[in-house]
Amino acid sequence: MSINELITASNLIGNKIPLWNQGKGGNCSFKNNLIDNIIWIKASGYRLDKVSLESGLVSVDIDKASKKLLEIFHQFSNRDINYDDEKDYENILLNSAYHTNSNLKPSMETGLHIVLKKDFVFHFHSTAALIMYEFKDKTNEFYKKYPQYKVSFIKFIQPGLELAYEVWKKNESDIFILQNHGVILQSNNINILKSWEMMEKEFFQFIKRPDVNKLYTSNANFSLKGSSAPLKFYFPDSLVFENNLISILKFIKTKNGQNYYEIDPLKKELDKNAFELWEATSLIYNYFPQTLEIPKEAGKRTIDLPFEKHRVSQTQ
Ligand SMILES: [Zn+2]
Repeated sequence: MSINELITASNLIGNKIPLWNQGKGGNCSFKNNLIDNIIWIKASGYRLDKVSLESGLVSVDIDKASKKLLEIFHQFSNRDINYDDEKDYENILLNSAYHTNSNLKPSMETGLHIVLKKDFVFHFHSTAALIMYEFKDKTNEFYKKYPQYKVSFIKFIQPGLELAYEVWKKNESDIFILQNHGVILQSNNINILKSWEMMEKEFFQFIKRPDVNKLYTSNANFSLKGSSAPLKFYFPDSLVFENNLISILKFIKTKNGQNYYEIDPLKKELDKNAFELWEATSLIYNYFPQTLEIPKEAGKRTIDLPFEKHRVSQTQ
């Protein structure tokens, strides 16, 4: 178990586009409580496929961060999370990071990685996980085949602090299926990723959608030629990077009161991150058009999160 495995796993997830991840989304971490008190995690604004020993990882003092996090978590049993808490959360992460040779900022999801105790935590924007949440009853039934995993569902909540708090309350789970967001896996072995991939495929068989499994055999250059879709907000990143998405899309038609778009081939190269996000969006829409979007009010709050403002301002 090592940082090398963390890098291998990060690159593996980061390369499964758009099924597992898109743009700068997702974050992976490694800690070894027996050896030291350090968690290694992706830096905010980096792509998982670009994480290496030289760049994209940041180390955080686990004890320092978790002590402060628990102090604020304990207040939430009596009151709602507010904007000041979000600022506090950001500062806790910044102040607990070891800034040895860089000024990298730890991922906004560092909180959830810290409250999970296993060595590896992988969080990514699996399209299958969104569908599993939509088919919650079926998914519960499906997971009876895998009693070795404790599975939790989390309804849509804000990334960052709110998500960390929910995960903390259920931190014995191995698999968290997040509505309109993705999945969190914790394990002492990176092979959990192989198991997850197998479970995704089996799940689509289970719900009698073997057509979806064909997507898993396509190569990384997956593309949905000619399948337009409305601009749906299935992921927090779609809200945060809405302007990036709009800038690469071309209007196709209006149907049932909805505008349909496609990638403008002339602009596709301009924004790789937005392009991948669009691929995931059109994939979900074309295979599972009933999938719910992030509720409007919650979406407005997402854009206002201090961490999200930071991500938008990054040019890398
Ligand atoms: Zn995420």
